[in-house]
Amino acid sequence: MKFLLLVPDGMADWRIEKLGNKTPLEVAEKLNIDFIAKEGSCGSALTVPKGFEPGSDVANLTILGVDVRKYYTGRGPIEALASGIKANLVFRCNLVKVSDVMLDYAGGRISDSEARKVIEHLNANKTFDFVKFYPGKSYRNLLAINKEFENDVKTFAPHDIQGKKISDFMPKGGKIAEILCELMEWSKEVLPLVTEKANMIWLWGGGKIPNFPKFQESWRVKGAMISEVDLLKGIANGLGMEFVEVEGLTGYVDTNYKGLVKATLKSLEKFDFVALHTEGIDEVSHEGDLEGKIEAIEIYDEEIVGKILDKADLEELKILILPDHPTPIELKTHVAESVPFAIYGYERDEVKSFSEFSCAKGRYGSINGLRLMNYFIRREKF
Ligand SMILES: [Zn+2]
Repeated sequence: MKFLLLVPDGMADWRIEKLGNKTPLEVAEKLNIDFIAKEGSCGSALTVPKGFEPGSDVANLTILGVDVRKYYTGRGPIEALASGIKANLVFRCNLVKVSDVMLDYAGGRISDSEARKVIEHLNANKTFDFVKFYPGKSYRNLLAINKEFENDVKTFAPHDIQGKKISDFMPKGGKIAEILCELMEWSKEVLPLVTEKANMIWLWGGGKIPNFPKFQESWRVKGAMISEVDLLKGIANGLGMEFVEVEGLTGYVDTNYKGLVKATLKSLEKFDFVALHTEGIDEVSHEGDLEGKIEAIEIYDEEIVGKILDKADLEELKILILPDHPTPIELKTHVAESVPFAIYGYERDEVKSFSEFSCAKGRYGSINGLRLMNYFIRREKF
């Protein structure tokens, strides 16, 4: 038996007046995703525990059966796992564009090579010897702190403060907050010398590097992960899952779908469990592009789900499909609300299509997202 987890990031949404009070999922033509719902059983899962930010890190860890209340230390540390960085504390270092307000949390989607130059320049000119900047992908970089500090700082995610006054959202707390603030202020002088896309670093989401329970020990299956973002690579490394690299990924709707499908099918031959996480639908949701979101869902349905259903051995395959969290077009950001899910390969229920409201009426009902792996892999009696 093989297990395939499909996570179209940010696919769930709210009812939208312009769509006649329907959600993008209800409007999009997506026969293949609907097939999974129709031939399987559905439900609604809360993937972000109370009190947590609805980030893809928290949501995906929950889906994979990790209790974030015990293990989560921040986004930066998970991305540090992706590149094998070791440090006392690790923070996410976004390259951002600001005036007195946050103009662009994504630094004009700066290219990897330009971002690398910025990071090199920061390291060459840094004022603290115990910090080091590490390049990641595009605007998503890291700051490692190699000195014992208590992590008593409160930071703010830059994508949540678009258009807001930055002075209200600088790091707050003890000694470490002072250091972060100083670095952020200093960066305003350094960045404009090397790039026009970003004029400040934004430090947030930091903590100690976590020690996650290993996926194979928890579920007795050998797992592989395919994703376009470092965050999921970090989760894979932390859980002891194989991370499968694919060429030509953009993390956007124009990504290399063929490559992702090929890697998925190939990984299913080698591993018991394969997770495929894709980013495009979430990105258009952040842009508030309604037409784009519907189209992105349709492309995902055809290019990913359809192609996999065509080629995989469905007799031997269980499939779980769900977005990690909703990203409502209206808000252009994530919310900590339930997401629809469908599990193919066991019983069938009455649900005929995949959406926020249809799946909620399914056989599994409303569940805590931490239960998903139990229902999917069924290592215990269901
Ligand atoms: Zn997102």
